[in-house]
Amino acid sequence: MSIFSNKPKVAPVQVPGDGSAAENSTPRIEKTDEQWRQELTPEEYRVLRQAGTERPYTGKYTDTHTAGVYNCRACGAELFTSNEKFDSHCGWPSFWAPLADGTVRYIHDRTMGMDRVEVRCASCDSHLGHVFEGEGYGTPTDQRFCINSVSLTLVSADDAEK
Ligand SMILES: [Zn+2]
Repeated sequence: MSIFSNKPKVAPVQVPGDGSAAENSTPRIEKTDEQWRQELTPEEYRVLRQAGTERPYTGKYTDTHTAGVYNCRACGAELFTSNEKFDSHCGWPSFWAPLADGTVRYIHDRTMGMDRVEVRCASCDSHLGHVFEGEGYGTPTDQRFCINSVSLTLVSADDAEK
């Protein structure tokens, strides 16, 4: 009998929830506040890490129709694609679905006197925007992911082929 077959005495790290479905929503990239502050521009930091909102109609991707994938500005995870982007005329880039289940996570947001659902990157827990639900968007899901341009980096299909 080897001593190495002994079970470790340190308890495993506890994952919130039941550890199955919840694992998808556990951030895989963790950095200190100071690291984020150094890596991001002040505006990126304010939106991504402090749940700020860029002013409407000022974002880089509001009216973009370029084919491609939208990555998380903070960690590079692929979050949305141009296939699900639509013109909502709300002042921010809008999508009717994320790239795949589990790429984003949702948090009930009752700040600012409103009852909203916040959308965060599932990989690094950065703030992306909010998701709204209701008929009238004319989208397949009746959902509108209202996402800050500053939270995204568009990798166009042309760039990806090079
Ligand atoms: Zn991220």
